[in-house]
Amino acid sequence: MASSISYVDMERTADRLHRFGPLLAELFPEVAQFGGMIESDLISIPSFARALSHPPEAGALWIKADHALPIAGSIKARGGIHEVLEFAEKLALDHGLIDSDSDYLQLGLPKARALFGRYQVAVGSTGNLGMSIGTIAAALGFKAVVHMSFNSKKWKKDRLRKLGVQVIEHAGDYEKAVDAGRREAEADPYSYFVDDERSLSLFLGYSVAALRLQSQFHQSGIGVDARHPLFVYLPCGVGGAPSGIAFGLKQIFGDHVHCFFAEPTASPCFLVRMLHPDHAGISVYDIGLDGNTEADGLAVPRASELAIDMMWPLLSGVFTVKDDDLFRSLYLLNETEGIKIEPSAAAGFNGPQMLLNSEAGRHYLAANNLTNKMSGATHLLWSTGGLFVPDDEYVGFLARGKTIVAGDRNFALTIA
Ligand SMILES: *Cc1c(COP(=O)(O)O)cnc(C)c1O
Repeated sequence: MASSISYVDMERTADRLHRFGPLLAELFPEVAQFGGMIESDLISIPSFARALSHPPEAGALWIKADHALPIAGSIKARGGIHEVLEFAEKLALDHGLIDSDSDYLQLGLPKARALFGRYQVAVGSTGNLGMSIGTIAAALGFKAVVHMSFNSKKWKKDRLRKLGVQVIEHAGDYEKAVDAGRREAEADPYSYFVDDERSLSLFLGYSVAALRLQSQFHQSGIGVDARHPLFVYLPCGVGGAPSGIAFGLKQIFGDHVHCFFAEPTASPCFLVRMLHPDHAGISVYDIGLDGNTEADGLAVPRASELAIDMMWPLLSGVFTVKDDDLFRSLYLLNETEGIKIEPSAAAGFNGPQMLLNSEAGRHYLAANNLTNKMSGATHLLWSTGGLFVPDDEYVGFLARGKTIVAGDRNFALTIA
């Protein structure tokens, strides 16, 4: 079932988002100038590359700026919003409110809102998926419920409550929150549960990023072909968002794109599962890790089996990063490029160094005949969240990164 999706499904998903464009433009003024399209910029980051001492002959560094995706402020915007729109579309079609060539602005009118108001849309989340689902569901008139884990940030809960979303806090981790939400929704025919671990609709929503990136590359004159390999570094939690994007990129660029996932050392659930091919459902706790990380969007004990299934044949590798690395990248990116991201979003930033300087990375390049093609390479750092991080919180992140960078420099002086 899962593996039967293809390029055509991506196009259908993009078409659905396009149909909803005018309604999204009306509900969210920040996307009005884009016709309701929810998309992020592709940004060149030469100063950051210099700060990392990334050699220019090893390829150019770019950021895909999902940290600034409108409406939800993270990578969860495309997938989460798509799934709620698909549900709303189905309800409206089933109830005869629209047909295949209707103007979707009707779905913002009282009749549609009254229909949506009879239904609940629920989700379990560490934070960002909840923000995405809660925001769009409440805006369409659904009753929105977000189950959150104890380690979710307070400001995310506060923000959702202000939007009229019911936030239910759970004493356990992310999985407990998802389980509770799933069970509650199963018991209620008027409740629709967005399942972060199993949803194909979410997955396809994420995959649309690849179509958009293809035209952005075109506009920026970036080629992806045998002499211009593309390396993409994606932060990974349960794996849904990065897998959806990697799937989409593979559909478009085939063997010329190489996708790597980045996980916190304390919670590398995707890596653990890939290292245990016969152990579906293995968790980071099973191998003695505690899951404790500042990367709250990635603090997930177990990978999505849907994402794992999709990635077996497509993923190039997984690497892990320490929390200190996240804060170092977060700080340096702000210093050099003035870009504000959250800690989870920095997980992929060690990717080029890992690929170029680690034994496993060098082996990958040699085995794939890439070593002499790196001057034509593009390294794409997928920065996944941060737009809505409150200033006082962000100042704390910066201070922590600054201390780490100062420590690096002292160390460099002592060994010099
Ligand atoms: C959710 C999230 C991810 C990873 O997505 P998964 O689908 O959980 O793998 C990465 N970065 C941020 C900021 C996120 O919120």
